[in-house]
Order: sequence, then C-alpha cells, then structure tokens
Amino acid sequence: MDAFIWPQQKQGIYSTKSGYNWLISHSNPNFHATDSWSWIWRLKVPEKFKFLIWLACHNVVPTLSLLHHRNMVNSAICSRCAAHEESLFHCLRDCNFSIAIWNNIGFSSQAFFSSISMTEWLREGSSCPRSAIFLAGLWWIWRHRNNMCLNNTTLSEFQLRNNIFRLADTITKAFKKETNATPSPRLIRWNNNNCQCTILNVDGSCSGDPIRAGFGGVFVTTREHTLLATRDTSLSHKTSCLLNLRRSIMGYGWQSV
Ligand SMILES: [Zn+2]
Repeated sequence: MDAFIWPQQKQGIYSTKSGYNWLISHSNPNFHATDSWSWIWRLKVPEKFKFLIWLACHNVVPTLSLLHHRNMVNSAICSRCAAHEESLFHCLRDCNFSIAIWNNIGFSSQAFFSSISMTEWLREGSSCPRSAIFLAGLWWIWRHRNNMCLNNTTLSEFQLRNNIFRLADTITKAFKKETNATPSPRLIRWNNNNCQCTILNVDGSCSGDPIRAGFGGVFVTTREHTLLATRDTSLSHKTSCLLNLRRSIMGYGWQSV
C-alpha cells in the first residue's frame, strides 16, 4: 500500500465536512449534502433560539412524549389540555393553548397548521416575511409551556402577545444590517431611578506637566434636578477642584457629615 486516500473528495484528502456528510448519508440514504443545518445557524436570532430550533429539527426537545418514551415520566398526555399526547407538534403548535397564541399573533391559516414535517414547518416560518414574529412566538410558546408545566405560572394572552411583539422588535433591531445613514441624534437625560436622595455626577481629566486638571460636578435631587454645577480648569492638582466643589456646597448651606 502506497498511501491512504479519502475517496469522498476529488483530491483524496479527508476533511471533517466530507466525513460528516459521509456518516450522515450512511445513516440516511435520502440525505444530500445540501440538506445541512446551516440555515439554522444563519438565522438572525440569538443563539438560544437556534439551539431550540436545532433540537426541534432533531426531535429531541424534552416534551412529555419524548420523556415518556424514555421512561422518565409516567404519562405522555399534555398537562396543559389533558386531551392529547404531547408530541413536539402538539406542544409547539397544535395544543389549544399554542393555537390561541399563534392566532393571536397573526398565524391562523390552514396551511400553517397542516405541515407534517417539523423541519419544513420551522424552515418556512423562519424565512417568511414575518419570521421575527414567528421565531419570537415559537420561543415564547415553549417558554410559556415550561412556566405552566414546571412552575405552575401563567401569563394572559395579552401579556404573551406583548412579549412576543416586543421580542420580535428587539431581534429585528439587534440584527438589522448596519447602514451608512447618518444616525439620528440621541437625547440623553439623567435618570435617578426614583432614588430619594441627592446624587453627585462627577467627571475630570488631567494632562501635561505641571498638571493641568479639570474637574466638574453636578448635584441632582428628585425635587430640584440641579443644585450646583462647578468646574475648574486651573493649573493645579485636582484636589483643589474638589476643595472648590466643597466650598461651593457649603455656600448652599450644606453640611458635611
Ligand atoms: Zn395540549
């Protein structure tokens, strides 16, 4: 024998990708290399969403049906509606609780509820014009199901709808392509988070030798917003600026404690 070659590649050189495809094609004769899961990892959503979809495509989401099949629970019946086995489709789409949520966010067509391939259903939903709503809905339906079954808590349809639309909006904005358009000016205002106290915002900088220092502070209260602003850019150490601040405070009748 002169050398080992890997016949799955033209050059005869082994690669992890060709090895993976070879393994999959042997376990599933209908598999083609183009049937990869790369469409999942290309989705513009948080990683946890992709992982849930990947689990769903492999039918390993821990529904009661799966857990019962593995002798981990006594019953496979859906604990929300108590009417059907909790398969993955039932859990994510066909349970009355899930149907109500899908309808509430605009997915109500017969075609939406007729797909029998989980992968195709997820792939179509992830690529439709309302993909962000679909993916946010999918995430919240799974999360709400867990809250109901594991924590015994629930949310109203109104709250769920709000959460889903807000999440979809966040996803869309977070993964939106950067544009060269001039960003609109942002108004920044101080927020004391309803703290019942006075807050001192300070900043300072220094440079050169001898040191040229500047130091400023703004006192803010919930009632008056601004009590005092001071600034010092003299040729001195920043300690003198602090002393200047302190003198100014005392001028307003404050006492140090
Ligand atoms: Zn159910």
